[in-house]
Amino acid sequence: TQVIKPKIREILSKELPPELVSLLPKRWVKIGDVLLLPLRPELEPYKHRIAQVYAEVIGAKAVLRKGHIHGETRKPDYELLYGKDTVTIHVENGIKYKLDVAKIMFSPANVKERVRMASIARPDELVVDMFAGVGHLSLPIAVHCKARVIAIEKDPYTFKFLVENIHLNKVQDRMTAYNMDNRDFPGKDIADRILMGYVVKTHEFIPKALEIAKNEAIIHYHNTVPEKLMPREPLETFKKIAREHGYEVEKLNELKIKRYAPGVWHVVLDLRVYKT
Ligand code: SAM
Repeated sequence: TQVIKPKIREILSKELPPELVSLLPKRWVKIGDVLLLPLRPELEPYKHRIAQVYAEVIGAKAVLRKGHIHGETRKPDYELLYGKDTVTIHVENGIKYKLDVAKIMFSPANVKERVRMASIARPDELVVDMFAGVGHLSLPIAVHCKARVIAIEKDPYTFKFLVENIHLNKVQDRMTAYNMDNRDFPGKDIADRILMGYVVKTHEFIPKALEIAKNEAIIHYHNTVPEKLMPREPLETFKKIAREHGYEVEKLNELKIKRYAPGVWHVVLDLRVYKT
């Protein structure tokens, strides 16, 4: 939680109608040197100047107006308010994430999960990340756990950063990236651990995950669930599909990641699956 910096208030209270000063954003997110600023509609006429002042006081090269994340490849629709270049390197937990903040989702709310992944695997494991993004969850595994990682990312622009990040973090000896739809990935019966860092439709990918899994494996299964179906879901659905494919499921852990929408949670289950 941040409070509005006195300097920002001092500058903008000379330029904005007094009733708008109290509406200035008190929180923001900084990813590398790009600022994500939530702005109330009342501030619309002053948005560019406000963004410039925040950028100068906080120290950012670009400012994006926080919006929503859409569609299959989870693209944000942020409006550029200040600056030009939205490609940045964000350092978190000793990992360098290069990305274009305007075009690629990087949720501050998922930080705990990124940090949790940094101690989740043993070095002798093969981990497959089915929704790799720029390496959000699998770079921590390659860098800190020193496990082998296969990272699959469908979107070509996101994939470009994934490849760069593998080199930036010097894990090219143990991390390999594939630019494809994970449903076309040919590996079968290979993974000790699978990351399914996706939401809304993750259940559609369970059969593919089981195909990639060894006879016994751990799956980190993310999905979004309406509160009223918890805690029965999303485990029930996973178990049902797994049984249809000859796998039993043991739940090891369940964590809430964030509120996704009113009454809907993004959760992750750690599941041990084994062939029966
Ligand atoms: N797993 C990370 C996390 O949880 O923070 C990144 C999540 S990111 C929102 C999901 C990524 O999966 C996007 O980059 C998207 O392009 C990719 N994706 C979506 N469907 C895919 C598919 N069928 N095969 C491979 N990648 C896919």
